[in-house]
Amino acid sequence: MQSNFPRYFVDVILPLALPKTYTYYLTEEQFIKLRPGHRVTVSFGKEKIYTAIVKKTHNKIPKVYEPKPIHTILDEIPIVTETQLNFWEWLSTYYMCSEGEILKASIPSALLLESKTVIEKCGITKEQLNSLTDLEFLVYEGLQKQNLTLLEISKITDLKKVLPLVMNLINKKVAVIKQRVDEKFKSKKERVVQLSSTYQKDKNLEKLFSDLNRAPKQKAVILALVDNSKNLSSWVKVSTLKEIANISSGPIKYLIDKDILNERYVEINRNLIRKKKYENVVKKLSSFQKSAFKELNHQLLNRDVVLLEGVTASGKTEVYISLIEKHINQGKQILYLVPEISLTSQIVTRLESRFGDKVIVYHSRFSIHERTEVWRQVLNDSKGLIIVGARSSILLPFKNLSLVIVDEEHENSYKQIDPAPRYQARDSIIYLANKVKAKVVLGSATPSIETTENVQNKKYGYVKLTQRYGGVSLPKIELINLKQSYKKKKMKGMFSDSLISSIQETLNLNKQVILFQNRRGYAPFLECVSCGHSPQCVQCDVSLTYHQISNQLKCHYCGYSIPMPNQCNSCGMLTLNTKGVGTQQIENQINEFFPEIKVGRMDWDSTRGKWDFDKIIESFEKEEVQILVGTQMVVKGLDFKNVLLVGVINADHILNSPDFRSHERSYQMLCQVAGRAGRSDQKGKVMIQTYDPENLTLKQVIENDYEGLFNIEKKERIQYHYPPYYRMIKITFKSRQFDIINKSSNWFLNVLKQSYNGTVLGPTFPAVSRVRNFYNKELLVKVDSNLKPSSLKILLKKIYRSFQSISTFRNVRVNFDVDPY
Ligand code: ADP
Ligand code: ZN
Repeated sequence: MQSNFPRYFVDVILPLALPKTYTYYLTEEQFIKLRPGHRVTVSFGKEKIYTAIVKKTHNKIPKVYEPKPIHTILDEIPIVTETQLNFWEWLSTYYMCSEGEILKASIPSALLLESKTVIEKCGITKEQLNSLTDLEFLVYEGLQKQNLTLLEISKITDLKKVLPLVMNLINKKVAVIKQRVDEKFKSKKERVVQLSSTYQKDKNLEKLFSDLNRAPKQKAVILALVDNSKNLSSWVKVSTLKEIANISSGPIKYLIDKDILNERYVEINRNLIRKKKYENVVKKLSSFQKSAFKELNHQLLNRDVVLLEGVTASGKTEVYISLIEKHINQGKQILYLVPEISLTSQIVTRLESRFGDKVIVYHSRFSIHERTEVWRQVLNDSKGLIIVGARSSILLPFKNLSLVIVDEEHENSYKQIDPAPRYQARDSIIYLANKVKAKVVLGSATPSIETTENVQNKKYGYVKLTQRYGGVSLPKIELINLKQSYKKKKMKGMFSDSLISSIQETLNLNKQVILFQNRRGYAPFLECVSCGHSPQCVQCDVSLTYHQISNQLKCHYCGYSIPMPNQCNSCGMLTLNTKGVGTQQIENQINEFFPEIKVGRMDWDSTRGKWDFDKIIESFEKEEVQILVGTQMVVKGLDFKNVLLVGVINADHILNSPDFRSHERSYQMLCQVAGRAGRSDQKGKVMIQTYDPENLTLKQVIENDYEGLFNIEKKERIQYHYPPYYRMIKITFKSRQFDIINKSSNWFLNVLKQSYNGTVLGPTFPAVSRVRNFYNKELLVKVDSNLKPSSLKILLKKIYRSFQSISTFRNVRVNFDVDPY
């Protein structure tokens, strides 16, 4: 071998859906420096630049291509841990996706510069301007006219490796990465001041005090500053000084002008912005909670996962808190998973009142900068943290993770559906916890069938809380037969007489009401009474949904919209009528029946902004709003003390879904909805309107008969080969061409059948068979032959590789979804 041939290589994970890692060559110096988890920038494809993550360094020359050099090493210390890299590998094998897709889902995009990243200028001082090199100045000038992408900067400067330059501009605070439009975000800066160096000397400070004797306000500022800083050179927030010294900005400005104080602006941690003063509230556990806590600790001694099953409002959260306390006192990290972002604010408030600023929050509605801050905080933490987050927070760079709480473990929002990685956060974190020797507590009032199965076969430990906190009894559940009510003309709009009068009674007692409408019955659409036609989306096979506020028809899949038509475009009659009942309609009807009462609405449309949930929840908590109308979002684990009545407008939308989990889901959802009533001092009431009062699931809900549900489900699922007794993998084909979608899915099925004798259902069109002009077709593969899941996955990947080499199928997209439920 030639002696000048490079001998140092690095395998990197690119943020792309590539099947493998990619190899680049390194100098000896880079080789010595690089560790797994470091970020490097590399070229890939035509002149494209990406940030990639180092997987490993080695000395083996790749056989099929000649490696290129890397551009830059971006970090001193790796930003991805080795534990994470191993976790990614497992996730990618188990969920049949690429490590690149996991990388993209994990790392905040601000840490992943690429050719298309847009750079924006900052306002800068003369000093900053003078500090720029010629090239940096060139870029800065370019930024005056418009924002630039890395590619454009590369053209302006004639540099191939433009990233070090851009990193310098960012580090010098001359430029920043531009946010995407959907990440509305204002940089939060705080003004801070410090004593100028002259007055940091005791002698001069004393003199200053006596000089200021005739300027009491300024003296108060200096006193407050000295009192509230660790030493005489500390920086203190101006807002703090103003509050303590009880002054306006005038005296501070004066002191700055006289060079007695130095001033500057600092970016403050956005996660800390909302924080106020914390009182350390310790709630004493009831005797039931105490014994559950003791039993939990006992079981955790020799089990990695324990299910805490507790009826709604039994006080599971307080039990978690006691457990967290043990771990946080040892400086460990704790992950507290919640199924919906809307739940974080209540939980965070409760955790903060106990653990103060040890609590941080993470979810997908955060801006890229906030996510970056949390990432770094988790990575650099050494004192212990409690991270509250939704699904994606399992991908954070934990250190010393020792406890994971999965609250409402049965919730389907723990499953990522689209795009890849299509992972189950609960199942994945159980895997990770096992690797790092952390303990997992799953909590639920209505556990999933798979978790109960794992309890029964002794894989998981089990602790039960059977009483509501304070001994309040579970609410009384009443069914209202809609058929009869309509027949007897006892309906007002969507409401039966008895529901209306119960609402009235509840309001008379100064108590609150929650009205629930399932998401599936939520979308009102237009229908022509004469010909039955309803306006459809042009790109998807669905009816358009009526939006009252904008007076438009919209597609919930692709966003296509048209103004509300006044005649049917099929028969031309003026007989269009809205069908289906949304939360908006319910809100309107309630406003009509109870004009003096304040009504709030919580659904996906009313909560687009990051803090919208919080506002709605807060106004309901403070009893500014008496009736809350909502979809799924209102039912998941929220704790409102004053709610006495919960009304389910129509349970049939929940009960009639064509899914093997339909019974389980309806049971869970209805028990959860019911669980919002009468949580603190008085027995609550739940009214469920339905056309099908004989329904078995409804009976189980009323009798709180989880065991009955479980036994029937178990029998049926074993008989019909469904999870958790048999695993499944769903394969989705997408194409713009109808004949290709049929041909390609059939081809796949036939090839699969040659080597697999288990059950394969399909190919079938899903309920909505065309989305954004792409036809979808699905195969459902059950793992019920003698092939192990891992071998089946390898087989599927192999078939997929041959599939890709067929030219007619080139434009067909194929997704694998493992455990698709
Ligand atoms: P769950 O999570 O089981 O549905 P929560 O933890 O929300 O129940 O508890 C229900 C209500 O009881 C909450 O309002 C909570 O503040 C209150 N609670 C629970 N345990 C205690 C306790 N030990 N001391 C005081 N209040 C408690
Ligand atoms: Zn559409």
